[in-house]
Amino acid sequence: MDMQRIPARDGNHNLQDYKKMRENFSWNDVKNNFSWNETGKVNIAHEAIDRHAEDPSKKDKVALLYSSPGREEKVTFEQLSKESNKFANVLKKYHVNKGDRVFLFMPRSPEFYAAFFGILKTGAIAGPLFEAFMEQAIRDRLQDSEAKMLITTPELLGRVPQEDLPDLEKIVLVGDNSEDSDKYIDFKKEMNDATTDFDIEWVDLEDGMLIHYTSGSTGKPKGVYHVHNAMIQHYATAEWVIDMKQDDVYWCTADPGWVTGTSYGIFAPWLHGVTNVIRGGRFTPDDWYGTLDKFNVTVWYTAPTALRKLVSAGEDTVKKHDLTSLRHIMSVGEPLNPEVITWGLKAFDLRIHDTWWMTETGAMLIVNIPSEEIRPGSMGKPIPGIEASIVDNEGNELPPNQMGNLAIKEGWPAMMRKVWNNPSKFESYFINGWYVSGDSAYRDEDGYFWFQGRLDDVINTSGERVGPFEVESKLIEHPAVAEAGVIGKPDPERGEIIKAFITLNDGYENSDELLADIRKFVKTGLSGHAAPREIEVKDTIPKTRSGKIMRRLLKSWELGLPTGDTSTLEE
Ligand code: ATP
Ligand code: MG
Repeated sequence: MDMQRIPARDGNHNLQDYKKMRENFSWNDVKNNFSWNETGKVNIAHEAIDRHAEDPSKKDKVALLYSSPGREEKVTFEQLSKESNKFANVLKKYHVNKGDRVFLFMPRSPEFYAAFFGILKTGAIAGPLFEAFMEQAIRDRLQDSEAKMLITTPELLGRVPQEDLPDLEKIVLVGDNSEDSDKYIDFKKEMNDATTDFDIEWVDLEDGMLIHYTSGSTGKPKGVYHVHNAMIQHYATAEWVIDMKQDDVYWCTADPGWVTGTSYGIFAPWLHGVTNVIRGGRFTPDDWYGTLDKFNVTVWYTAPTALRKLVSAGEDTVKKHDLTSLRHIMSVGEPLNPEVITWGLKAFDLRIHDTWWMTETGAMLIVNIPSEEIRPGSMGKPIPGIEASIVDNEGNELPPNQMGNLAIKEGWPAMMRKVWNNPSKFESYFINGWYVSGDSAYRDEDGYFWFQGRLDDVINTSGERVGPFEVESKLIEHPAVAEAGVIGKPDPERGEIIKAFITLNDGYENSDELLADIRKFVKTGLSGHAAPREIEVKDTIPKTRSGKIMRRLLKSWELGLPTGDTSTLEE
């Protein structure tokens, strides 16, 4: 691994002492920021929206800075509070109650956020679904969750297999509605008639808030159930890791169909009353830079897949834009290749802070914070209140530098409380008091964690265990390689051999010489045993719609095996 280290930087960061933060830490102290101290009851919609709307100094602040092709809008906290109240009234009119599952299947828009908080205000459980899902994905998720109501658009309605969804009572249509059936509720009309007053449903911290289906990288997506209590961790990590400040303009690129898009695209900024940029549609590098530039974004939370595209687009593209407002960048979703960090220092003069967590964990767990040194390739250290370790399959802790299961001591505020309809799946995560993540990693002597791969993806070649991430990171350092996905391919002699699938940067042609050169590059730069014996050039690497490389698909294609659940596969 790259042993370059990037020291903490001053600037306008809130440089907190990591060691002090961890000492005598109690989640209860974070709880004191919220109003349940007074009543014992809570609702995340109140803490994220209404609380600011009731504050004369905050109510006219822009909560939502919305931009998509052909539409731009600013929505204040007071407006968002009123709009979500109206929608909560609409839901009550159609008999939505606490605990009911109400799903959203629509593009990001101001209506989405009003509907989302409207759902939470009734005490119902929100289930956001990514707009690009096709019929099978919608069927699976709405059946599994026994959704009672769905909010969608007339354009997407054709992908909702209503005949297979007996629990689905009503469908709210956002947009010009020509349907004539009492199954459908016209959003615009109902919102016009609804009042802006609503008595919020006060709930317990342990009451349900969200169901998120996982990304499907390793198999069938799981319905992960989160409770209002998660806000404690959203709030705290926004301060420690996102370095949130009152005058920030914050942009999280994730869609709310994925957990990053709710925990950090909705709750983290709004629990702090910070202006949140929401950008709909698909992005090219110019759109990314253009959005950062146009809105003077100060803090940016994105993903390796986006950052790798920016690297490929080159430095000339960066130079076209004014990014001087930007002061803090974070990444999540996949391991962050060291090359991307090195490039970030050049392109932005900023460090890129990797954060590790999962749908199941509900919020960040292992992170790089502004006050700590970054070791490129490492996902950092656990946040205060979190004990992380590397354990064997029986849940015994392993010594430093040994690869094993990345595990977290059970019980943190944002942890999932169940897997919907699947108690045995839920149980299977826990061994000997540890939540076992399914990722493999090791910890160095200084407590930094190093991601190696999904457990299923670790390659065993000639008796050596090789994580695909290391090999992929080395591959993309080669000037010809844009992206790489690495798998183990069964081999009678070596157990497995390493096979790499790559895409090429513009200006490079596939040839035997090029592939030999790439192989040599990994061999000399990483190690002989980690150099792929086979390299195949592809037009694209299969990814989930949240941008994660699907190694299991590369593997099943390679071996001619059934592909399993592909509902989240990007086209
Ligand atoms: P499924 O569980 O359905 O197979 P998934 O695991 O991709 O899909 P998510 O919960 O969206 O679904 O993703 C969590 C996973 O993403 C982690 O287990 C890890 O493998 C990967 N991941 C997230 N952040 C990082 C990171 N910073 N470094 C390395 N891997 C990461
Ligand atoms: Mg997972």
